[in-house]
Amino acid sequence: MRWFAEFAWVGDRVAADVLLESDGDRLTRVTPGAPPPPEARRLPGLTLPGFADAHSHAFHRALRGRAQADRGTFWTWRDQMYRVADRLDPDSYRALATAVFAEMASAGITCVGEFHYLHHRPGGEPYADPNAIGDALLAAAAEAGIRITLLDACYLEGGPGVPLTGTQLRFGDGSAAAWRERVRALLDRAESPHARIGAALHSVRAVPRDAIGAVAGFAREHGMPLHVHLSEQPAENDACLRAYGVTPTRLLAESGALGPLTTAVHATHLTPADIDLLGSTGTGVCVCPTTERDLADGLGPVGDLARAGSPLSLGSDQHAVIDLLEEARALELDERLRTRVRGHFTAAELLAAATWRGHAALGWESAGRLEPGALADLVTVRLDSPRTAGAVPEHLAETAVFAATAADVTSVVAGGREIVRDGRHLRVDVPAAYREAL
Ligand SMILES: [Zn+2]
Repeated sequence: MRWFAEFAWVGDRVAADVLLESDGDRLTRVTPGAPPPPEARRLPGLTLPGFADAHSHAFHRALRGRAQADRGTFWTWRDQMYRVADRLDPDSYRALATAVFAEMASAGITCVGEFHYLHHRPGGEPYADPNAIGDALLAAAAEAGIRITLLDACYLEGGPGVPLTGTQLRFGDGSAAAWRERVRALLDRAESPHARIGAALHSVRAVPRDAIGAVAGFAREHGMPLHVHLSEQPAENDACLRAYGVTPTRLLAESGALGPLTTAVHATHLTPADIDLLGSTGTGVCVCPTTERDLADGLGPVGDLARAGSPLSLGSDQHAVIDLLEEARALELDERLRTRVRGHFTAAELLAAATWRGHAALGWESAGRLEPGALADLVTVRLDSPRTAGAVPEHLAETAVFAATAADVTSVVAGGREIVRDGRHLRVDVPAAYREAL
């Protein structure tokens, strides 16, 4: 396949008249300043590498708009989320997730990290196939045409020393050994070009100390990404200090759970020593700004984390909106609010978080760049919309990151296959799929 981009993001700068050629799912040649070949598909606008949504819980999308009527806290929001979780089964979750992943595709997301903890029937009894819901999520991503890393989460208790109750019974495998057996079965059959399996610790609230070590060891043994919610709320820090006498970050470090294959999600309420531990171990941090603001989590020290050595990625998490450009600019703009200083991250650094760093956090190393050998993921942002018209060539990256939205994404190619054209998903009618699923 050959595409001819009016402008494209090549090697951290904008180039004009870029010919992009692919064979199968890989780019084979990227040529700026090329004459337009007559048979190439034209991509008017700025073509970026595919975005990675490194933290998603697909079913939380059902709360969009509905959770805004109440005031409350993170914890009252969680009660609403549990009521949605109560009602899902593998078929209804597959339908909902197909709509969510197709909405992501339409927004330029070519790979999702699905942090998955809704494993079992209401009450906790496993389905006949204990990975029925995980399989439904893999199938939903295939239907939407995007890649998925299914981050299968271990969830064993309702707080340090507190048994699971109510909806949480659906999340639990009983022990780290049982979690491992279920994930091993998933690994045995999930070999597919569009899917990978990763590991997750729900949080230090939900996984006791010895089990954290067991899950981290399993992930290391299999070279899998390991994701964990970290210090999203001060209450989690307090509970951890009471139970173990250390911060959640320190507990993870002492359990062997930090390192370059690990991504800490949120990392909002940290001590200076926590920041050093995350940075010095090369642990990644996935920030989810639209969710963190929606849930009144607070502002994490993202600039300090980046300087300490933690690569930053982005997630839409509970999907109050699905727009990686909004998440990317929030990294910079929220840091301005926190520090009252401008200019922490360049547009190139924000695009890196939205693209290759996100793919790397999900275990897809050769994705998120427009270069030969990389997966052929192309996301084109129009430059003639009310938001982007009048952009000047020397500031197109800034226009995309600071002014464009997901609604400006017109064309998406994932792994060499066109999945969105003229802003519409080619296989899934997203609004109709939502009306049906919700
Ligand atoms: Zn989350």
